[in-house]
Amino acid sequence: MARRIVDAARAMGSLSVDPKTSDDPVPERALAWDEDLTTLAIEAASHLRYHDARHVLASPKLDAATLAAALDIKIPIRTIADPMAASADLDGPTLLLGGDEAWAVACLVEGPPGPVEQAGPPRSVAPRPRMVSALRALQESRRVPPAEEIPDSPMGAYVPQGTWVEDLPARLRLVAQRCRSCGRTLYPPRGACPACRDRAFDDVTLPHEAELYAATRIGRGGAPSEFALEQAQVGAYWVGVVAWPGQGVKVTARLADVGEDAPPIGAKLRPVVRRLFDQEGRTRYGLKFGPT
Ligand SMILES: [Zn+2]
Repeated sequence: MARRIVDAARAMGSLSVDPKTSDDPVPERALAWDEDLTTLAIEAASHLRYHDARHVLASPKLDAATLAAALDIKIPIRTIADPMAASADLDGPTLLLGGDEAWAVACLVEGPPGPVEQAGPPRSVAPRPRMVSALRALQESRRVPPAEEIPDSPMGAYVPQGTWVEDLPARLRLVAQRCRSCGRTLYPPRGACPACRDRAFDDVTLPHEAELYAATRIGRGGAPSEFALEQAQVGAYWVGVVAWPGQGVKVTARLADVGEDAPPIGAKLRPVVRRLFDQEGRTRYGLKFGPT
């Protein structure tokens, strides 16, 4: 038995550049504001059965801490420039994550050490692209500066890096708490149950299907400062109250992949990992909720 690719998925940026507006300053697909190679790699990997992987190799362009938390990978993620080449030396199921420009590939390799057999192209798991002008694509890709001065040290929802990393499973994988005394489900996790003040909890993961309870569009001046740069660049955005009626949980969150109009109240939503903003020189990722 040779070392071979068992499955591979490719996710691409969600913007497609209208050819009428472009002589090709941007690739065929471009990243939206809240996408980057890490969010695309998470999307691609979520379509593979990788939980038995004995090794995980990722390109240095990807944020390993975010990958580990979002994909619930418990073994160390090795960062290496060419994951495919490096996987030839390894034994057993191996997850490879890499990408470039506006695409990312997740690839599952199996078998004894040796050269990896060629396979067909990875299956595409990218959503239908949103057609935009070349200028819009450059703005959303953060390649042109905004037209106005934006404070460069967002403080609106300042969370120290250490606390942020500690909370990543909750932020990226919907890990909630269930109170051992009264059974109430808390999300995001808290120090004490607001109903009974108990401090003993079990971890529970909220279902992937959520529901839109309310939505509002945040226009100019209404954004917390960590989102001010994004708003100057790409305009107003949608925030929703997202509910899990069966769990008695509601949370306020950004909506993803919506245009001028939000989904109708009651619409089914799915969580997606997206880039939120940069703080202390690091990109912070979190869950947004998009149409199913
Ligand atoms: Zn309680």
